[in-house]
Amino acid sequence: MKYFLLVLGCQMNLSDSERVKAVIEGMGFTPTDNENEASLLGVLSCSVRQKPIDKVYNRIHVWNKKKNKQNIITFVSGCVLPDDRDKFLKLFDFVFPMSELNDFPNMLKEYGVASPLLLNQEPVTSENLAVGNFKPITKIGLKPEKPRIPSNQDIFQLWNVKPNYQSEFEAYVPIQNGCDKFCSFCAVPYTRGREVSRPSAEIIQEVKELMLQGYKSITLLGQNVNSYGLDRKEEISFAELLTKIGELGITLQNPSWVYYTSPHPRDMSRNVIEAIAKYPVLAKQIHLPLQSGDDQVLVKMNRKHNLDRYRESVAHIRELIPQATLFTDIIVGFTGETEEQFLNTVKSFDEFQFNMAYVAMYSPRPGAQSYRWENDIPQTTKKDRLQRLSDKLEEISGHYNQQLIGKTVKVLVRTKERKTGYLSGATEGKLVTRILSKDIGLIGQFVTVTITHASGLSIAGELVANTSKKTLAL
Ligand code: SF4
Repeated sequence: MKYFLLVLGCQMNLSDSERVKAVIEGMGFTPTDNENEASLLGVLSCSVRQKPIDKVYNRIHVWNKKKNKQNIITFVSGCVLPDDRDKFLKLFDFVFPMSELNDFPNMLKEYGVASPLLLNQEPVTSENLAVGNFKPITKIGLKPEKPRIPSNQDIFQLWNVKPNYQSEFEAYVPIQNGCDKFCSFCAVPYTRGREVSRPSAEIIQEVKELMLQGYKSITLLGQNVNSYGLDRKEEISFAELLTKIGELGITLQNPSWVYYTSPHPRDMSRNVIEAIAKYPVLAKQIHLPLQSGDDQVLVKMNRKHNLDRYRESVAHIRELIPQATLFTDIIVGFTGETEEQFLNTVKSFDEFQFNMAYVAMYSPRPGAQSYRWENDIPQTTKKDRLQRLSDKLEEISGHYNQQLIGKTVKVLVRTKERKTGYLSGATEGKLVTRILSKDIGLIGQFVTVTITHASGLSIAGELVANTSKKTLAL
């Protein structure tokens, strides 16, 4: 019996999906990419924008039509807003928060669905029904009076599930769940709850195991990673956590790159930057979401940082880790954003010289504070601002990339390029790199590349046979 899982949204969902798969496969189901052959179909939903929500409705309508001909079970979990949750309860068989993942096998059993594993252990009876032969289930799932915010204990149980890592060389390690910042455009504090830090001993153990297994890229995940530990007096701080991981890298003589995402500018202490500068295993790439380059817009966004605070962090980064690349997130067309305020964001790109920016056009989300405000910037203006900012980014990052031509860099090969004869990878600073090679055996390996071409958002080059040549950590 097979299962199909659609994972939408960010790396946090991707990381959660590794634990969801472990639980489902623990019940004896096997994965499939073909939803037509699956008996169990699920979605990990994302509430950041309307598009992923539309995808969830699209899939469940297709799946529910199939129920006339085929016995299938459907579920949804992940980031679900209270309003969507109420609607999902009418459409899916199971709706549960990620924190209740451990109960999923019991939920199935309770509602008369026997997993493949159970079937191998017990004779089939009318009480012990197989998927493929179960009672048609119309409306089941959890129907709390009010959507429930997960408790600390629930989250700790989720983290205790041993994940089925989807890659043999890149892994995500959750270190924290939820957020206390309440940015006005964001619903995360309402979907995932308040900040909860995972015990540091567990994090270090998971990172150690990944390093010993030869993982090359490890990303510490959370909505607000650098406020790690602030919710629990007995825990260490984020800078101390990085220090411990840095020391681990030295002890194990580990060559991997350890990243983290996403931090908040308000909590970006000098100690964090010092730790990254000190330890080779901590990747020299900083992702620091600015969201807007205008102080008034930042106040309206309730970001709790201003341009000066951001400037201070960037100055520390440039002083202590001059080779670090700098990435950011920006929202254009936020409610009330004037042309002048947008131009301040453009100016901030000249000032901070970002290597990459994930620019999104503002769209209101139910549940977020700004949903109640007028979405008054026309879509055409948002598109125009997105384009102008993307052009600015290409100009700045293109200039940086051009200076790399002729230099030699270390690259982690990640996949085959669409264009035949090329592989794709990334430098330590996450600069996308196209490599002239057909050798798919290099996927998951570090290679040395001489840069021959550069464009706005990527670099390209050729493999260096003699890897002892001095390489740049970029
Ligand atoms: S810091 Fe703001 S944008 Fe990030 S998860 Fe928290 S509320 Fe959302």
